[in-house]
Amino acid sequence: MFDEYKDSVIEGCRRIVAENLVKGTWGNVSISDGERIFITPSNFPYEKLTRKDISVTDMKGQIMLSEHKPSSELKMHIALYNARKDIKAVIHTHPVFSSAVSLVCEKIPSLIEDSVMICGEEILVAQFASAGSEELAYNVVEAMGKNNAAIMKNHGLVTIGDSINEAITASLVCEKTAQIYIVALSCGNVSIISPEQAAQLREKYLKHYKQ
Ligand SMILES: [Zn+2]
Repeated sequence: MFDEYKDSVIEGCRRIVAENLVKGTWGNVSISDGERIFITPSNFPYEKLTRKDISVTDMKGQIMLSEHKPSSELKMHIALYNARKDIKAVIHTHPVFSSAVSLVCEKIPSLIEDSVMICGEEILVAQFASAGSEELAYNVVEAMGKNNAAIMKNHGLVTIGDSINEAITASLVCEKTAQIYIVALSCGNVSIISPEQAAQLREKYLKHYKQ
């Protein structure tokens, strides 16, 4: 049952490895149908994942079907689905440049059009808390706000979307923007899109481009 959801999670895992957003089995991927969460198992090789390995829980994290322990970041996925009823997918990864930004900045400002449109006007860095904790879940929801990306201090990146594809696109765009920011910071003063123009870009994307 629910094969297409499980297949989406497996495909998402393969893509985050192929796109170099994670190393090994780090990171986690989930999709939700509004009543259930389909999520990667904890510490399981992505290349060996099959449908039966995907954990299924309800929206409170109660296990409905699982051969393995669900991802250790299940609480963060649940908190995001409960805070953002508009989303269907959550992707957590450990990419290099977003992680580097988390060490030196509180946010990525409105730098580049695609990032402002796809990720949000400013991408905020969530306060540090232990991996897998309720506190980390709370911090990430707070930093995410109405955006599609939040960077996790001294940890990595989480992105959301109405599909796995949309969440992966947000991860790739955020990571590219983090790389641009680090290069630009090392060169001199960084030029920023005005808050008014950034708000217009994001609104235009959400209203006209996203569909
Ligand atoms: Zn992590």
